[in-house]
Amino acid sequence: MKEDRTCPACGKKLKVFYLKPNCPHCGADILRYNMEQRLAQDAEKADAEVQALWRTVRKLDKAHLVEKHYRKKGKPLPWEETAVDGE
Ligand SMILES: [Zn+2]
Repeated sequence: MKEDRTCPACGKKLKVFYLKPNCPHCGADILRYNMEQRLAQDAEKADAEVQALWRTVRKLDKAHLVEKHYRKKGKPLPWEETAVDGE
């Protein structure tokens, strides 16, 4: 199986059996780079799961108990908080 490996930082091709942790072209720490990317993806996934959970809670909470609770405390509603998308 032919695997096309490229540096995640500079995009240049790496040898298939290039196993050193740093890119020979730009010197980027490839292992760390991949790890950070994975962590970022995990965080995004977790965020989406939390949002989905709050949407479900909101749907089930016919008496708006959660809403009342948060308004009483003067806090933003959890689904409003998570809905903010970096504007
Ligand atoms: Zn590179």
